[in-house]
Amino acid sequence: MGLSTPDSDQPGSKRIGVFGGTFDPIHLGHIETARFALQHGNLDALLMVPAGRPWLRGMPPVASAGDRLRMTELAFAGEAGITVSNVDVVRSGATYSIDTLTDLRGQYGDAVMLILVLGADSALSMDRWHRASELPGMCEVLVIGRPGESWDGNLPTSHPAHGATFLRGPMMDISATKLREQLAHGVDVRDSLTAPVMDYIQQHRLYGTGREDLQMVQTGTGAERLLERAKELGALEFGDFTLTSGQKSKYYFDGRRLSLDPEGSHIISKLFLDAISNAGCQAVGGPTVAAVPIVGSLVLRAWQEKTEITGYFVRPEKKGYGMGRQIEGSVKPGMKVAVFDDTVSTGGSLLQAIDAVQEFGCEVALVLCVLDRKQGGSDEVKRRGLPFISFWEATPEGDVQIVQR
Ligand code: ATP
Repeated sequence: MGLSTPDSDQPGSKRIGVFGGTFDPIHLGHIETARFALQHGNLDALLMVPAGRPWLRGMPPVASAGDRLRMTELAFAGEAGITVSNVDVVRSGATYSIDTLTDLRGQYGDAVMLILVLGADSALSMDRWHRASELPGMCEVLVIGRPGESWDGNLPTSHPAHGATFLRGPMMDISATKLREQLAHGVDVRDSLTAPVMDYIQQHRLYGTGREDLQMVQTGTGAERLLERAKELGALEFGDFTLTSGQKSKYYFDGRRLSLDPEGSHIISKLFLDAISNAGCQAVGGPTVAAVPIVGSLVLRAWQEKTEITGYFVRPEKKGYGMGRQIEGSVKPGMKVAVFDDTVSTGGSLLQAIDAVQEFGCEVALVLCVLDRKQGGSDEVKRRGLPFISFWEATPEGDVQIVQR
């Protein structure tokens, strides 16, 4: 996209606003400020200029320059008078406004007046910009108010924004930094973004989005989604079942089908890790076979989240060969450990695993499972004075309900 060259050759006859920024992502605060500047700032046209590599920020932008450029284009698609320029994205190296203005001057010639449009916070920092003293000779400055930033215009004459025009503007309290945090935590921020930008963010999974399951875990509804997922997979079914033990049941739960499902594994590991980290555990594990896939996903997640937790599992009995180890992994005597199973009924294998790690010299700090069938196992764990968490519980009527989110 580009602006047509001015009709008149009179220097300064056409006034082009230049609104640069990281736009990571572009939000309604930027958009309404841009519209306001165009309407009230004595401008003929406005250029939105996403930065390639903003130099003032400590951290590089989260989204790529290409994504930020595309989002800015989507935000202003079809909008009269506002055009998006890629001038800063295509230039290599750090983005400096002095280069932006030089390049735009090269593109549009001397017959335009360039007006740098800035939020009040950015305008105040102009004296720290690269070759700041040269800026006043290259452009006018239009400052638009931003909530939380006061502007009294009382700047030293040496400041590049000295004498700038100030307009209060729409004063929308939106910050890109906060939006990114909210997006990553699954908070609904559609009120602060345009629909095409929101769609783009989700399609490209920017800022930790696009993972509905992840967002559900992060907003505290992991156990609910896990239940839904179990039903989708047929890992939890309701009807009249006869279990291997000969017992009748109104529901059937296959924990392996859930813990071996990618989304199931993702949610279980998240729910378990949060609980385990709160209990200060150094190792996590449980009885074979049920605990094995969960241990794998848990230690991976722990490592990704920079938590030092190691995994183990407990065989039903000592191996009759090799080192004869009943407990596999790097767990050591003296460690605080969590012991878990996918399901607890009477607690047979779980209690055996608890006995084994205690005998080995570990302190059991937490016992947990996805589903407590309420058949005595959890009561025995509690009777032993061990903290117990389950995320779902079977009701006497044969339903399964969420007891911990
Ligand atoms: P953050 O919100 O994390 O501080 P930012 O949105 O200020 O980021 P940029 O995208 O670089 O970062 O901002 C581009 C320009 O838009 C800057 O001049 C900034 O002052 C201005 N701006 C950003 N948000 C607002 C807002 N809510 N109201 C007015 N101006 C804003």
